[in-house]
Amino acid sequence: MANLRFQVVAEAFNKKPVEVEVPKERPADFFGKNVFNREKMYKYLPADVYAKLVDVIDNGARLDRSIADAVATGMKEWAMEKGVTHYTHWFQPLTEGTAEKHDAFVEHDGKGGMVEKFSGKLLVQQEPDASSFPSGGIRNTFEARGYSAWDPTSPVFIMDDTLCIPTVFISYTGEALDYKAPLLRALRAVDVAATNVCHYFDTNVKKVQSNLGWEQEYFLVDEGLYGARPDLVLTGRTLMGHDSAKNQQMDDHYFGTIPDRVQAFMKDLEIQALELSIPCKTRHNEVAPNQFELAPIFEETNLAVDHNMLLMSLMKKIARKHGFRVLLHEKPFAGINGSGKHNNWSLSTDTGALLHGPGKTPMDHLRFVTFIVETLMGVYKHNGLLKASIMSATNAHRLGANEAPPAIISSFLGTQLSELLDHIEKSDKDELFTMAGKQGMKLDIPEIPELIIDNTDRNRTSPFAFTGNRFEFRAVGSEANCASAMIALNSAVAEALGSFKARVDALIAKGEDKTSALIDILRDDIKTCKPIRFDGNGYSDEWVVEAKKRGLDCETSCPVIFERYLDIDSVKMFESLGVMTKKELEARNEVKWETYTKKIQIEARVMGDLSMNHIIPVATHYQSQLAKNVACLREIFTGDKVDKIAGRNIKIIEEISERNESIEKGVEDLVNARKVANKIEDEHKKAIAYHDTVAPKMEEIRYNIDKLELIVADELWTLPKYRELLFIR
Ligand code: ADP
Ligand code: MG
Repeated sequence: MANLRFQVVAEAFNKKPVEVEVPKERPADFFGKNVFNREKMYKYLPADVYAKLVDVIDNGARLDRSIADAVATGMKEWAMEKGVTHYTHWFQPLTEGTAEKHDAFVEHDGKGGMVEKFSGKLLVQQEPDASSFPSGGIRNTFEARGYSAWDPTSPVFIMDDTLCIPTVFISYTGEALDYKAPLLRALRAVDVAATNVCHYFDTNVKKVQSNLGWEQEYFLVDEGLYGARPDLVLTGRTLMGHDSAKNQQMDDHYFGTIPDRVQAFMKDLEIQALELSIPCKTRHNEVAPNQFELAPIFEETNLAVDHNMLLMSLMKKIARKHGFRVLLHEKPFAGINGSGKHNNWSLSTDTGALLHGPGKTPMDHLRFVTFIVETLMGVYKHNGLLKASIMSATNAHRLGANEAPPAIISSFLGTQLSELLDHIEKSDKDELFTMAGKQGMKLDIPEIPELIIDNTDRNRTSPFAFTGNRFEFRAVGSEANCASAMIALNSAVAEALGSFKARVDALIAKGEDKTSALIDILRDDIKTCKPIRFDGNGYSDEWVVEAKKRGLDCETSCPVIFERYLDIDSVKMFESLGVMTKKELEARNEVKWETYTKKIQIEARVMGDLSMNHIIPVATHYQSQLAKNVACLREIFTGDKVDKIAGRNIKIIEEISERNESIEKGVEDLVNARKVANKIEDEHKKAIAYHDTVAPKMEEIRYNIDKLELIVADELWTLPKYRELLFIR
C-alpha cells in the first residue's frame, strides 16, 4: 500500500503557481471597490442623509434612526448592482474569529411573488440566534438573547454575494458579548482623556484618535501535506515532529526571494484586500522557513481591527485556492520562530500626531513628553493586565520561550528619549526655566532631535518599544483579535491621562503656573514609572531576577495571568472609564478559562489518538521487520558473529519497545490527568489543572515520538515531516 505521505509530498513538489486574475486598473483605482465608502455614500444617499451619517462617523453624533431606512436603501441599491443577494451582521464573538449569519434580501410581496427588500430596522439591529456563542454565563438560555447593532464607523463591505455589516454584539441587559463593544468604549475613553490633556497645549484640538498598524505573520503549508497531519487539522499546530536538519539557522529565508506559488497567493490576497479597503503595503518572507508577513498602512484602531479580522478570513479562503493552508497559530512548529502580530500604536489629534518627536516649540516638546510618559504610566501600572490581554493557550507557547517577546512587559525607549526623560527627572525647575529676555521665562526642554525616528535602535527583545513615532506592542499573538490588546492599552493610557490631568489641575488650582504644574507632575511620573523602562536583553535570565525586584508581573502560567483582569486596579480602571463592568470582566474570564481548557483538552486527545494509531503501530511494524531480519541472520550465522551482525537491529528493537512503552504509559497518564481535571467544576481551577498537570505530559510523549521518528524507516513513517512541511511549496 502506498504511503499517503509520499504521495502528498510528490504532489506538493510538482504544484505550479495558480494563475492570478490581475485587474486592469491600478491599485489606487480598485481600492475600496467592494466597500460602501464615502464616495459610494455620496452617490447612493440623499444629501441630507449623507451629511447626517458623516456626522455620526466623524464626530460620534448619535445615530438618528430616521435616516436608517434611507441608508439601508442606498446600500441595497449599490450591493444589488454588484450582484449581491444576501446581507449579514458581521461581528466578533469571544471565540476569536468572526461570525455571520446570511439572510437573503427577499421578502414576500403580498401578491404571491417576491421582492428584494432591506430596511433600516434590519440594518441597525438584529437578533441572531446566537445562544451557542460563549458568554461566560451572562446570557444563558433563560435570559434574553443577544443582539447585534450596526457600527456605522466601520463601513459595510461585500464578500462574495453578501453585504457584510460590521456590528457590536451585546446582551439585552447591555453587557458586551464581543470585542468590538468594549473596544469602542475604550477608544471613546482615550479620546476624551487625551483631548482634555491636549487642551493644556492647544485649545483647538477637538478629537484624539487611536491608531493601529498591525503586522500579520503567518505560515503557509501545502494543503496535501496539511491534510496528512491530523494535529494541524484539529489543533492548528504540530504536536510532534523532529527538527528538520536545516531550518532557520542560515537566515536564508528572511527577506529572501518569495517562492512563486507563495507570490501568486500574496498577489491574489492583496488584490482582494485592497478591494476591501485594507491598505496593504508590505510583504516579505519572515525568519522561519515558510513564514511570511503582511502589513498594511496604519488606520484608526476600530477600523484596523476590523480589517485585520477580515484579512485573516480572506487569507484562509485564498490560501485554499492556491493549494495552501494558512497557519495563524502562534507556534505551529517547535524549534523555529513562532508568529506574532506587532501592534503599532499611536495617538493623533485632528490637528496632528502626538507621539511624533520633533515639534516647533518647547511646548510641543512638553506635549510629546507628556504623552510618552503617561503612556508609560499606563503600561507600568497595568503591565500584568496588558500581558493578560495578549495571553492565550496558543500564544503561551511563544511568550517567554526565548523568542519573540519575553513574558514580562517592559518598555524600550532608545537612548535619546531615555536621556531626555532622565534630564527632566534630575533637573530642578530653575534649570528647566531660563530667563529669556522680554518673553519672560523660557522653557528649556532639550530639543528632540529629528534623528529620533531612525535612531531608536531596534531592541527586538522588547515587548513594548518606542520606534520614533509610535509604540510597538509586540507581544500580541498572530491568531488573536487585536481588539483585546487595544482595549487594555487604550484604557490604561486613558486612565493615566485622566489621573495626570486631575493632579495638574489640582496644582493649578493652588495657584501654580500651568507649565510648572505640568513639569512637576511629569517629573513625579517619570520617577514612578521608571521600573517599566528597560533597554537591555529581555530574554536574559538576569532580567527575570531584576524585573521581580522592580515589582513587574513575572507570572508565566496562562490561566493565572488571566486573573489580572479581576485585580482591583483593573476592575476599577475599566469601570471608571465605562469600558467594562465587573460582571462583564468576570464573564469574559470564564470564557477565557473555558477556552484554554478546551484547547489543551483537544490537543491532549489528538496526542493520544496519534500516539496509539499512527506512531506506535508504525514503530511496531518497523520493529517486526527488524525482528524478522534478526531471525534470518540467526539462521545464517551463529555464536559471537550473530551477536555482532544482528546487534544493531537488536538495539533498535529494544529502543522501539522502550519508547513505545513510554508513549503508552504517557498517554495513560495524560488520560488520567484529564479525568481528574474534568471533575473540577470551577472553570478557573480547571484551567489551572489543565495547565499544571495535563499540558506538561504532552511534552514527555512528544519527546519519545520525535526520537522514534529518527530511527523508524522513512518509508514507513506516515506523518509529513518538518523538512517537508517547512520546505516544500
Ligand atoms: P517594521 O519595521 O516594524 O516591520 P513595518 O513598516 O513593516 O515596520 O510596519 C510598521 C507598521 O507600523 C505599519 O503598519 C505602519 O503603517 C505602522 N505605523 C507607522 N507609523 C505609525 C504610527 N504613527 N502609528 C501607528 N502605526 C504606525
Ligand atoms: Mg514592527
